[in-house]
This record gives sequence, C-alpha cells and structure tokens, in this order.
Amino acid sequence: MHPWDVIIIGAGAAGMMCAIEAGKRDRKVLLLDHAKAPGEKIRISGGGRCNFTNLDTSPKAFLSQNPRFCISALSRFTQHDFIALVNRYGIAWHEKTLGQLFCDSSSRQIIDMLVTEMRKADVTLRLQTSPSDVARTDTGFRLSLPEGEVSCSSLVIATGGKSIPKMGATGFAYELAARFGLRLVETRPGLVPLTFDPAMLQRLAPLAGVAVEAEVSCGKQSFREAMLFTHRGISGPAILQISSYWREGQEIRISMTPDIDIFDALRRARAENGRQNLKTALASLLPRALAEIIADGTAGNIADMPDRELRRISDAVSSWRIKPVGSEGYRTAEVTLGGVDTRDLNSRTMEANGVPGLYVIGEAVDVTGWLGGYNFQWAWSSGWSAGQAT
Ligand code: FAD
Repeated sequence: MHPWDVIIIGAGAAGMMCAIEAGKRDRKVLLLDHAKAPGEKIRISGGGRCNFTNLDTSPKAFLSQNPRFCISALSRFTQHDFIALVNRYGIAWHEKTLGQLFCDSSSRQIIDMLVTEMRKADVTLRLQTSPSDVARTDTGFRLSLPEGEVSCSSLVIATGGKSIPKMGATGFAYELAARFGLRLVETRPGLVPLTFDPAMLQRLAPLAGVAVEAEVSCGKQSFREAMLFTHRGISGPAILQISSYWREGQEIRISMTPDIDIFDALRRARAENGRQNLKTALASLLPRALAEIIADGTAGNIADMPDRELRRISDAVSSWRIKPVGSEGYRTAEVTLGGVDTRDLNSRTMEANGVPGLYVIGEAVDVTGWLGGYNFQWAWSSGWSAGQAT
C-alpha cells in the first residue's frame, strides 16, 4: 500500500482541477509545487481578472498534431461545467468579447475557489518542493523530495509549459515524460508578439503605440482583432493569435482596414476633393501616424494620382505583407506550443499508453488553445478527465 494514491506535480490550473476530482473520489492526493503559492499563472492571467473560459469552446480553437485529441476531455468537462462551478461560488463575471469570460473583480477568486474545493476534497498541498528524482516501482512511482521519499500508485505531470520562466516555468514536464519514454512534439512559444528587423523597426518607429482593428492571416488561418505596433514589432490579440500558426521565414498578411475598400475610398476622395494630399485623405480612414508613414514619399494632390498609384497605396493598407524576423520568445509568450505527443496518451483519461498510472495534463500536452480563455478550459477539462481515472 502506498501512503498516497495520487501525486500530482504542479499546482496550476490543471493540477488543482485534477486534485479536486481525484480527492472527491476518496483518493489520497498529494499536490506538489515548487512555487510559494498555487495557481500563480491564474493570478496574473487576463490582466488580473482571469479569462477563465470561452463560451464558444470547441476543438477548432486548439492546435495539436492531432486536432481530434482534445474532443473527449472538452466534451466531458465543458465550459458550462466550469461556469456552473464559478456560479456556485457566487463569483461575478462578464463576457468581454468573442465569448471570453472574465471575473468582474479578481482572478484570486478563481484560485480561492479551487483551494476551497481542494480543502473540501481533502487534498494535501505541499508548496516550495519539487522532486529531484522520479522512479517507477513495481506498483507505482517513487519521488525523491528534499524532505524525503514519497510514493504513489498514480503520478500526474501537471507542470505546464516553458512560458514566462521568470514565474517558475520549466521544461520539467517534457524531461520527465521523455524519461518515461513518451514522445515529444517540438515546443515553441505561442500567443507571442512578433518582431521586425532593425531597418523595418526604424521605418515604423513613429507607429509604436498605434492600434488598429486588423485582419491578420498566415497560410489559411486568419484572425480579426486589434493589432498594436510596438518598439520591437507587432502585438495585440490579432498578432498573438496568428503567432501560434506562424513559422520563421513565413510571411503574414495584414489588412489594417478590413471593413473599408481603401481603393474605392481613395477614388471617392479624389472625385470629391482632389486638392487634398494623400496623407489627409488617408488620415480620415486610418490613425494619423499610420497615414503619414503610408503617404511618405508621395507628393502633390490626390487629383494627380492615377488609379495605379491608388491601388498600390490601397494594397499597402489592405494587404500588407510582412516577414517578421522572430518572436519575443518564452519571456512573454502566453503559452507553449507542442509538448507531450498525444499519440502516447489516452484522450479520455490522459494516461500514458505505455506507462500505466502515469498521466500528463494541461499545457504540458501538445494541445494549445487560441487566446481567449481556451487554454484554461483545456487545463480544467484535461485535469478533470485525469481526476476521474487516477
Ligand atoms: P500552469 O498553470 O503553468 O501550472 C504549472 C505549475 O507547475 C505551476 O504552478 C508551476 O509553479 C509548477 N511547476 C513547474 N515546474 C515545476 C517543478 N519542476 N516542480 C514543481 N512544480 C513545478 N489562459 C487563458 O485561458 N486565459 C487567460 O486569461 C490567460 N492569461 C494568461 C496570461 C499570462 C501572462 C500567461 C503567461 C498565460 C495566460 N494564459 C491564459 C495561459 C494559461 O495560464 C495556461 O495555459 C495555464 O495556466 C496552463 O495550466 P497548467 O496547469 O497546465 O500549467
């Protein structure tokens, strides 16, 4: 007999949800984390208000080598199940935009709710500790902690991805999974600002801080949300979304006026008031700083500009093609793409196919959501599913 039925490494969103569910099933659960407090990423998420789920959660909002892997967990514990839990605790929330649900007050309410649920389910939470070694035994697993050895029959890896190392993110999940023979899908930063080369940055320097509503595409994927010029390149929700699909060397296409046919608008401006210059005409359609950059180098009245020239200008606004040189990396990325290969996990229970009793949940798995509450929903759903099986 093991002193613990279940040991979960990582007291983030997925680990806490798994602990609650396993505890409710009368399993003796030990939850470990090297941080000082549980749910640190929940605390800082959504600007301190935690975008805890998305009303429109569906598998199409997730990236994975196997896009079908997430279906089972997402349908067993849905966004509506999590909303019901939040409602039971009387936590006030609102839909900000595009189905994204945020706490009215503070993300701490979500952490407090999970901690209370863990207490009710008799989960033991041990902070500021981490195993230096994990070994398989005949009947389960043995972990070496600074305070001594502990053993269990089920071990859950819930240590998340590599994003924001300053907050304690590590590659621990991948190393441990690999040690148990699980395959890994290459990891890379996702939901991350993209950067430009120095020449482009110099040209676009006056735009730092300018935001537009944009339609941004890469390959077949596109998103329509706000985009922001920064001192290093571009950011804002539309760019974070497309960054998860973008690979180095690829071009992205940006329409900075998705609702306006700029060519048409400029022709109208030319017909109605041909004595204005291009900058003035563009400034009625775009932020002034952007109009100035686009009109830079053009002279004279718009009346003197042929259709060909207006078309060139309209293309620069509506289908700007740009090759970012890179991304801001894990330092600022909200998530880690890739991770433990879903081919080696059971999609219903998250148990490793070749290692009975070993489970991987949350961001450590090769399932990554769009911006907008999808990543927490994956953490809740995958954690809940493992919690029923451990
Ligand atoms: P985590 O929440 O990262 O938890 C992993 C835990 O494991 C941590 O507590 C960590 O301390 C612990 N750990 C790591 N290594 C070790 C180790 N070696 N030993 C012991 N413990 C260890 N998603 C949304 O859906 N909505 C949002 O509003 C949102 N906002 C975000 C804002 C920011 C700034 C960031 C960085 C991310 C945001 N995300 C958001 C993404 C979301 O936070 C993650 O997808 C989610 O937290 C993943 O849950 P997880 O439990 O798998 O991992």
